[in-house]
Amino acid sequence: MNRGKLIGQVITAGRKRVSRVSDHFETIRERMVNEQLLVRGISDLKVLDAMQTVPRHLFVDDAMRNRAYGDHPLPIAAGQTISQPFIVAFMTQLLSLTGSEKVLEIGTGSGYQAAILSRIVEQVYTVERINGLLAGARKIFSELGYYNIQAKLDDGTMGWPENGPYDAIIVTAGGHKIPPPLIEQLADNGRLIMPVGDQHLQVLKLLIKTEGTVQITDLDPVRFVDLIGEHGWPN
Ligand code: SAH
Repeated sequence: MNRGKLIGQVITAGRKRVSRVSDHFETIRERMVNEQLLVRGISDLKVLDAMQTVPRHLFVDDAMRNRAYGDHPLPIAAGQTISQPFIVAFMTQLLSLTGSEKVLEIGTGSGYQAAILSRIVEQVYTVERINGLLAGARKIFSELGYYNIQAKLDDGTMGWPENGPYDAIIVTAGGHKIPPPLIEQLADNGRLIMPVGDQHLQVLKLLIKTEGTVQITDLDPVRFVDLIGEHGWPN
């Protein structure tokens, strides 16, 4: 069986075709899904479909559009980075989303991770501490019609208590510990994923909350930009 082709068809099946004009980047995205995600064990169809759908090249600088689907992170404004496609898919898959969830993201950055989540779940809340990045992300969300994302400027280590509890929380910057407010704002049976370590290297930690108790599993080593704030690194 031609596995790549079969999965490619499944991925395309649920997608709305708004235009017959073929998207130049669509083919490149499909290659990204096949060569970077499927072969490395991303098997959640909702995640694969979102990665195939969201136009990642719109979340990076014009000058970097041609590198947007490469197997690496890329710089965005203010010295921050948009994660490697595989990391975005891997972290999203670890949240085990079914579609009805309310998810909180800390570290909006380019907005790409929030955009991926918004194609999978009902409602996404995302917090960013740098105004320029937040403004850019909001603009793309509105241009793409991703209306189920709410973004605010704040210290995300405090969470976003007004809208909690959240079924899932994803932190896309590295801290020295999981911020306690985030654990508080996680719903029962909720899952939280976050890179924890020093400012050079972290390990992805998956926290699962069950009847008030938390279980934490260490996963792969990763490298993220700093989580800066009350429960993160000092500014
Ligand atoms: N998820 C982003 C990745 C951005 S990099 C994307 O898909 O592009 C991490 C981001 O976390 C940076 O934009 C940084 O400014 C932000 N950040 C760091 N500390 C933060 C905090 N305490 N609250 C909110 N955002 C924070």
